[in-house]
Amino acid sequence: MAQYKFIGANVAEEKNPFRIAQQQFDEAADFLKLEKSLREKLREPARVFQAKLKIKLDSGKTKEFEAFRVQYNDARGPCKGGIRFHPEETLDTVKALAAWMTWKCATVGIPYGGGKGGVICNPKELSEKELERISRAYVQAFWKHFGPDIDVPAPDVYTSGREMAWMLDEYEKLVGHKSPAMITGKPLELGGSLGRDAATGMGTVICIREAAKHLKLDLKKATAAIQGAGNVGGWTGKLLQQMFGTKIIAISDSKCAIHSENGIDIEKALAHKEKTGALHGFAGTKCITNEQLLELGVDVLVPAALENQITKENVSKLKCKLIAEAANGPATKEADEFLKKSKIFVIPDFLCNAGGVTVSYLEWVQNRTGYYWKLNEVNEKLDAVMTKAFHSVLDFSEKNKIYTRTAAYVLAVQKVAEAMRLRGKA
Ligand code: NAD
Repeated sequence: MAQYKFIGANVAEEKNPFRIAQQQFDEAADFLKLEKSLREKLREPARVFQAKLKIKLDSGKTKEFEAFRVQYNDARGPCKGGIRFHPEETLDTVKALAAWMTWKCATVGIPYGGGKGGVICNPKELSEKELERISRAYVQAFWKHFGPDIDVPAPDVYTSGREMAWMLDEYEKLVGHKSPAMITGKPLELGGSLGRDAATGMGTVICIREAAKHLKLDLKKATAAIQGAGNVGGWTGKLLQQMFGTKIIAISDSKCAIHSENGIDIEKALAHKEKTGALHGFAGTKCITNEQLLELGVDVLVPAALENQITKENVSKLKCKLIAEAANGPATKEADEFLKKSKIFVIPDFLCNAGGVTVSYLEWVQNRTGYYWKLNEVNEKLDAVMTKAFHSVLDFSEKNKIYTRTAAYVLAVQKVAEAMRLRGKA
């Protein structure tokens, strides 16, 4: 269950995620000299649904929770994107994330548009039964807008396979037939895919492998530091070690970063965290701060925790050759301006962390055909999608002498814009 967030309503306008998403889009639209009408259409979500979910609490009292579903664009296929349960959720955050899902799906070439949903609630203060009622009420509010060919939700912040199972059950009750492809990230017993758990980390590692080839960096001899030891950071670390023997000299959680120049056995470090609740105290390592981790002299730096970690204050102190942005938005706008001109190779977030949505797509395909693949088959397909996407971004960036993030944006916006034109919606 992910714990990351974009801080909500009370952020300054320049940190409002939707404004940031629009600025990023504008840059790509300028590069493409996008026609005015399309620019206007792609700057805003196509549809926004809002509802107040009336929930009976265990105490017998009734409480209202505000809920959203944003369908940003569906020119390339059904909308795709997670549902977040978070006390600081805002409509602008959901809109930004839905925009990013649109560009992410286009970047990796899977046949989806972008969407996102959210409920303003604090799961830590709610019982399992109350969370089930919220999940079911969410589907009751929006079910007519969901479906395998309309909009396919998934887990996100503070939601997991458990909530997806409740939502699927509620949806099937309402439509009167089985429809496993209406939602992804389901438990395996209800049609989930093998490999979904590790998918975002695996996608990140595939991007690192391809970037290392480009940079002539031998991952067997390389060093890496990973910020974050959750789903994405943990899997990225384990897989980098298992697949290439990369020496991981630091990994962190919210409390501290553990560091050892001799390398850290990630599997064992994660087992220690599982047992004790923290990475701190893992044998053979010393504790450094998360800021110090970012500034270590490593070949590969993987921010896999929160947004806005690489800032104008620390960006000039980075010593890595490659940044694999596993987290969403780990660099601020000012830091990104610096990175753009630096020698550091950046794998932009919505390419780097697209492994999760790619395996969600593979789950949807398996649900629709009723035929389920083995883990190695899922991973082979994931590898093919990620490798192709990585090289199309790299080639475009080299050909046009533009930053990798700009290249990813331009390619994505171009694909969505073309789909809009073909539909006569330009
Ligand atoms: P998670 O909740 O499983 O793990 C987050 C990790 O970050 C935890 O180890 C936590 O201790 C650590 N952390 C929290 N605050 C920190 C801080 N101040 N400094 C350093 N570490 C801190 O989350 P996750 O699913 O691994 O997601 C991580 C990032 O990856 C997020 O930006 C998310 O948007 C992005 N992402 C995740 C997925 C996915 O499939 N899980 C897909 C795409 C993108």
